[in-house]
Amino acid sequence: MSNILVYTLDGKIYINLTNRCTNDCIFCLRNDKDDVCGQTLWLDSEDFTAQDVIEQLKTQNLPSEEVIFCGYGEPMLKFAILKEVCEYIRKNYPNTKIRVNTNGHANYVYGRNVLPELKGLVDLFSVSLNGKDSDEYDELSQPKFDGAYDEVKKFIKACSDEGFEVVASVVEGYKGRHIDLESCKNTASELGAEFRAREWIQNGY
Ligand code: SF4
Repeated sequence: MSNILVYTLDGKIYINLTNRCTNDCIFCLRNDKDDVCGQTLWLDSEDFTAQDVIEQLKTQNLPSEEVIFCGYGEPMLKFAILKEVCEYIRKNYPNTKIRVNTNGHANYVYGRNVLPELKGLVDLFSVSLNGKDSDEYDELSQPKFDGAYDEVKKFIKACSDEGFEVVASVVEGYKGRHIDLESCKNTASELGAEFRAREWIQNGY
């Protein structure tokens, strides 16, 4: 199997668990590129185990300052594997920070609040807020179900309520388009999250 499940960027370790996503963001890197720094993130198969991920992790330079679940898809869709890999990292490298970059749909997808199951494992959730309201969210993120923006906001609030560090993010400047950063920042704050605007860079990451 030539699946790249683990890759490095700027000295940090990233984990690529899936190519599936419940969004189809117009700015998603997957639409423009097949690789990040030459590391192809399209998976040959979605059929792998946590142990396969751990074996690839072992080839990396651990302990690392931070491990980030990210990649070409929504990592929380592989919840059981994500949790098992977090447990491995936490047990063997307790000082390594664990971050999950997510679209915030997990509680909707699983029909329950999954966050308590990640307590003590994940340090930080970075959740894509992606807009000031549901119209803007739907236009930019093209979610595959109705009411996604409200689900994202609920997820951010749940992260905060459960005691996780949480950052709500937007992509600013996609093809010259501007987001109301002040409004998004206020929303983040109301939900108990920090706010981050990430500048869109063509073919960037
Ligand atoms: S949520 Fe992330 S992986 Fe999913 S389509 Fe948007 S940018 Fe791509």
